[in-house]
Amino acid sequence: MIKMIDLPYALTDLEPYYSEETLKLHYEVLYKGYVDNTNKTHEKLILARNNNDFSNIKCLEKNLSFFGSGAILHKLFFENLTPAHKDIPNLTLMQQIIHDFGSYAKFKNQFTAASISVEASGWCLLVWVPEFNRLEILQCEKHQDLTLWGCKPLLVLDMWEHSYYLQYKTNRESYINAIWNIINWEVVSNRFKNK
Ligand code: MN
Repeated sequence: MIKMIDLPYALTDLEPYYSEETLKLHYEVLYKGYVDNTNKTHEKLILARNNNDFSNIKCLEKNLSFFGSGAILHKLFFENLTPAHKDIPNLTLMQQIIHDFGSYAKFKNQFTAASISVEASGWCLLVWVPEFNRLEILQCEKHQDLTLWGCKPLLVLDMWEHSYYLQYKTNRESYINAIWNIINWEVVSNRFKNK
């Protein structure tokens, strides 16, 4: 069974950049749904194996990828936010960003542009790609489409409407500009260190 993480801050702590109302619904309802549905899918897969009945297997495998990826990405998302203004990558990650994107500003511009143009519901991610030995920025649709195999997510930004609509309506750019203030670069830098 997978479990929800505890939020590493209070529901009001990310104000004014990320409202209590949005965070509460996002964490207590939406994230919980992905964790619960991942566990339900695991239970159904056990039943299918025990009964040797794989008539629904295509749907179960699809749900495993969708709900499981949703659970993983939300955990990473809540963890990589902070009220504490840890707002630049550590030296090692900064050097890698400059090496792979040209400069921190170019990275930030690409990440912002990629976030704004995520099609429908999805995510923007800074990832480490071991096969390429470099950082990349990925746009993800839903929770699982458009990845590179084996990549390690370092920084993830939720671009589903539920993540910004209550506070920012259709203005994705103001949402992203606000989020830059509450990125936990310490967490992101540690993910890179432990890649
Ligand atoms: Mn979400």
